[in-house]
Amino acid sequence: GYGQDLQRRKVSETHYIGNNAAVADHYNSRPEVGVEGREFSPIIGLKKFNNWIKSVLIGKFAQRQGKVLDIGCGKGGDLNKWKQARIMLYVGLDIAETSVQQAHERYQRMGGRFDGYFFAYDCYSKPLGDILPEQLQQKDLYDNVTMQFCMHYAFESVSKVRMMIENVSRYLRKGGKFIGTIPNAELLLSKLNELPEEDEELKFGNSCYFVQFSERKHKGIYGHQYRFFLMDAVEDVPEYVVDWENFVSLAMEYRLKLVYKKPFHDILQEEKESRDFGPLLGKMGVVNEAGESAMDEDQWEAANLYMGFAFEKI
Ligand code: SAM
Repeated sequence: GYGQDLQRRKVSETHYIGNNAAVADHYNSRPEVGVEGREFSPIIGLKKFNNWIKSVLIGKFAQRQGKVLDIGCGKGGDLNKWKQARIMLYVGLDIAETSVQQAHERYQRMGGRFDGYFFAYDCYSKPLGDILPEQLQQKDLYDNVTMQFCMHYAFESVSKVRMMIENVSRYLRKGGKFIGTIPNAELLLSKLNELPEEDEELKFGNSCYFVQFSERKHKGIYGHQYRFFLMDAVEDVPEYVVDWENFVSLAMEYRLKLVYKKPFHDILQEEKESRDFGPLLGKMGVVNEAGESAMDEDQWEAANLYMGFAFEKI
């Protein structure tokens, strides 16, 4: 096991720090419906597709016998994917304490062959060194850091982004990979720009999502806010534009070098016939036996609001 001492004092403490109450409350209040309940979601096809995308990223960049730091782990929806990747250590943190508890419970139920630790923590305002026990905050400890559908919440301010990326980089080993998924801001901004000039609502979307900006142009790099709604997933929470070019150069300051970046549609295009990930499309229910997509047009459009990325620690 990963340190007998640690096993004994296995952590379920919840440290709640910071004023990100809106985001935490939102995610805390979402009911845990489990895998069966999920089948009734109106956007089940999209959810399955997002899961497939994450499996692709994990499959491409995970290390066997790896040690994983999952920042913004939520309810632990990726635990099983990491189990498949045969990791030996998983450390999950999230600002929403109810979600972290559910992640911990999921971990206990699944009986994986890896050690798991869970912490409620604001990873964008405080250093991880203040919460992780010593054994979990060693230099070069982690092979992977993962941030799925959550990094963009840090882009409210430069101080949050810097704290976030410092937390990502600090304990990641050289050659280790930082992977994640975020909204494709370039696409969001181009959709915003397509709105007619007289449009004052600054809102676009379809039957399963909407995005609403409060300003067309924003001064500065951080804090460009929009409201995002995704049916049965994200209820109208404030999110922030990720200026990608700027982020890539900031990440270099923390010895993180971009090695992969693709919109979700392109990931599907590239991997749908691959030996490793093609068959997973059927297994994960993204397509049916006839090879038809489980997503309708609107879900398919919403799917491409996102992109996946990977950085390597150098
Ligand atoms: N990664 C999970 C997944 O893919 O299913 C959850 C994604 S959910 C869309 C976004 C998560 O980011 C939420 O669980 C939220 O609580 C978390 N989050 C937002 N701000 C955070 C912060 N400052 N520190 C840690 N987690 C945060």
